[in-house]
Amino acid sequence: MPGLWSRVLEDIRGQVRTDAYNTWFRPLVCAALDSDGLRLQVPEDFYLSWFQDNFETLLRETLERHLGLQPELRYERRASGASPGLPEVFVPQSARDAGLETAYTFDSFVVGDSNKFAQAAAQGVAHKPGEAYNPLFIYGNVGLGKTHLLHAIGNEILRAHDDRRVRYVTCETFVNDVVQMLATGRQADSFRALYRDSCDVLLVDDIQFLGGKGKSQIEFFNVFNALYGTRKQIVLSCDRYPRDIPNLEQRLQSRFQWGLVVDIEQPDLETRVAILQRKAAKKGMELPSEVAMLIATHIKANVRELEGSLTRLHAYLELTGAPLTVEMARLALGTLLAEGNQRVTVERVMQTVANYYNVSPKDLMGPSRKRAVATPRHVAMYFCKKLTDASYPALGERFGKRDHSTVVAAVQKVERLLRDPRSDLATDVNRLTEVFEQ
Ligand code: ADP
Ligand code: MG
Repeated sequence: MPGLWSRVLEDIRGQVRTDAYNTWFRPLVCAALDSDGLRLQVPEDFYLSWFQDNFETLLRETLERHLGLQPELRYERRASGASPGLPEVFVPQSARDAGLETAYTFDSFVVGDSNKFAQAAAQGVAHKPGEAYNPLFIYGNVGLGKTHLLHAIGNEILRAHDDRRVRYVTCETFVNDVVQMLATGRQADSFRALYRDSCDVLLVDDIQFLGGKGKSQIEFFNVFNALYGTRKQIVLSCDRYPRDIPNLEQRLQSRFQWGLVVDIEQPDLETRVAILQRKAAKKGMELPSEVAMLIATHIKANVRELEGSLTRLHAYLELTGAPLTVEMARLALGTLLAEGNQRVTVERVMQTVANYYNVSPKDLMGPSRKRAVATPRHVAMYFCKKLTDASYPALGERFGKRDHSTVVAAVQKVERLLRDPRSDLATDVNRLTEVFEQ
């Protein structure tokens, strides 16, 4: 009854750690299983006594559940040479091979209202890869812990299910691999192996970069289907909701929502303080609560900036040897605390967009309607509306005393083009978004 035995094993597999399963259950060979009982072949005597002490009860209970009766258990030594059930030489994958950063774990992730849903979903996936939610799609602004959670999932899966092969890649790496494969034509096998055949858990960071990249979208679609169809776990991170990714094929958009879509928001004050304290403790820094409060009230939008402030403070402390007080933190962090509050300004948008398109800010304000200037002007207006508090009339004024309806039309035009798969404006907008987020 091989079917029954494999069901029993499958059941046990869910009840013990993977390493224990591999060591103690994989080598078992079921010689017979019937109403008389179960006859098992074991590799060695020492194995048998350990097995009986530690796992026999579990085996009995599981068998009883599946058979409806308590079978008798008989063991025999397997003849040497015959070793069909011996585990293959099994080398767990290293975090490095998987592309994982070992410091990003669930332990080092501070949970608050802003991220508890995403964190719980990530843990669910790590606990039951391929079963809980597939795909898991985590989205949120930059610096809020998406990458951290992706690595935490990977690290946890390698720890708890060491027979699963995990692959973490940034979307950029994926795109590069596609380009390489298509360019050489020879690497299709290794591409396939990397992303499909020898991959049980695929973690792709910043999937918004697929936007506008048609060939990569086709390859990703194939990878997605192959993994999904064999119940392999897929986890994606993104800076926005699936349907807001510009120039992304409809079929991918919908697939990204097949499982669970969760967002991470800006952490609240308490969470920010807790994160600071956790990071300080890790650095061996004594962080008075007033100082943590000072930093957390000024730096709100981005956890990476919170970390940056601590690093700076730490260096300052080591250099001066002075005790850490609120005054000294103000001194050390001066500009950083101010920057944390600073929003993107209209000037900065104009300058950045002008640089990007190789025109001058004056051109953006000027009358020319040439495409080479009009497109950058529209994009600049779009970013001003998105990133600053300026109203439409105020923006019209800033862009060479134009009417507010011109700005409204420009912003709408950009938004429309971002949704249009035939337009390549999304690439520009994505690049610029990155610049503004730095
Ligand atoms: P994202 O990928 O969303 O841009 P990251 O995951 O790179 O953000 O996070 C930026 C930094 O902030 C990382 O060093 C990460 O460890 C840290 N971080 C973010 N959220 C948390 C959190 N809840 N607890 C601890 N560290 C965090
Ligand atoms: Mg990230």
